[in-house]
Amino acid sequence: MQERYCKCGNPVIVQYHSKRSEDWFTRFWVMGSTFGKTVKACPHCGNPLSIDSLK
Ligand SMILES: [Zn+2]
Repeated sequence: MQERYCKCGNPVIVQYHSKRSEDWFTRFWVMGSTFGKTVKACPHCGNPLSIDSLK
């Protein structure tokens, strides 16, 4: 897992999964949320989370 940051500076935890070599997906958590509950948008600014939009 990696710690990345939203555009607003909110820290986001990113986990990469690979079921097969060409089949990747990512999951996102935010600090302080219940572990295991993933998020699709930043709870701080509402920005949709994607690996391309995170720094
Ligand atoms: Zn944000």
